[in-house]
Amino acid sequence: RRKEALAALSGPGVTRDGAHIALLANIGGVEDAVAAGALDLEGVGLFRTEFVYLSAAKAPTVEEQTEIYRQVFAPFGERRVVVRTLDAGADKPLAFADLGPEENPALGRRGLRLSAERPELLDAQLEALAVAARETGADVRVMAPMVATAEEAAWFARRVRENGLPKAGVMIEVPGAALRANDVLGEVDFGSLGTNDLAQYTMAADRMQGALSDLLDPWQPAVLDVVAVACEGAARADRPIGVCGESAGDPLLALVLAGLGVSSLSMAPSKVPVVRLALSLHSLAECQELAFVAREARTAIEALEFVRERANSTL
Ligand code: PEP
Ligand code: MG
Repeated sequence: RRKEALAALSGPGVTRDGAHIALLANIGGVEDAVAAGALDLEGVGLFRTEFVYLSAAKAPTVEEQTEIYRQVFAPFGERRVVVRTLDAGADKPLAFADLGPEENPALGRRGLRLSAERPELLDAQLEALAVAARETGADVRVMAPMVATAEEAAWFARRVRENGLPKAGVMIEVPGAALRANDVLGEVDFGSLGTNDLAQYTMAADRMQGALSDLLDPWQPAVLDVVAVACEGAARADRPIGVCGESAGDPLLALVLAGLGVSSLSMAPSKVPVVRLALSLHSLAECQELAFVAREARTAIEALEFVRERANSTL
């Protein structure tokens, strides 16, 4: 029954009562883009640009970057492509953007913090993105990783606009930014919750340590609470907020996230059909009810159980 239901559905993500929740892909380069571009999904919610340069010895030129970005955007036609500027450092070190050893790399000069110290790297990337966006006609939106404050968001947005790119956003993956989402998102056009890092920082559990995976579970009620606060702040700032962490590809958690107020879900492309099915079986009010019961739970396991009990049994 589930198989038939999966096959029968296509098109944008919509709840049973017609609320639109965009279904987007997480990609890491040209190969991913070509594969995802051929699929029935609404675009890209997270292009991890640092993945392209993990083995690069020196900084790519504007021309080299432009060529890559063109190839990434082209398969999506006029669909949206959300590009994350280099998220270097910690679990994603880049040889040409290395500021030296740190005691606590996950808490260190990574992501946008590194861009602030090496603005020439950011500007080269933004210039290349602007050229590739113009040439392909894709709906390109650029966001920064590891933003903690409204000042950082404002600094990034100014640089994005100076490079002629129309839309600037930030990832919400630091609890401080989630708590102050109203201020942070007020400086930009959109937000995207990175639940991998948000769980890491909320639970103070290194995402690289397999032994801590229970704490890193995005069903942790504390993580759901932080997401809820971020969504409330986004609503107050009147800015759209999505999710691009792995949690968006879990169909039951996707319902909870929709209930908390996100308007897009970005995931591994293979997860899109089951998330589309989950949304189609529930109204937005039901998603809100699922979000409420998940947050009533005292443990991650209980949160999942509560939601599984209440959700449509086809899933
Ligand atoms: C995240 O932190 O949830 C995220 C989407 O980014 P990454 O996993 O690349 O850090
Ligand atoms: Mg992250």
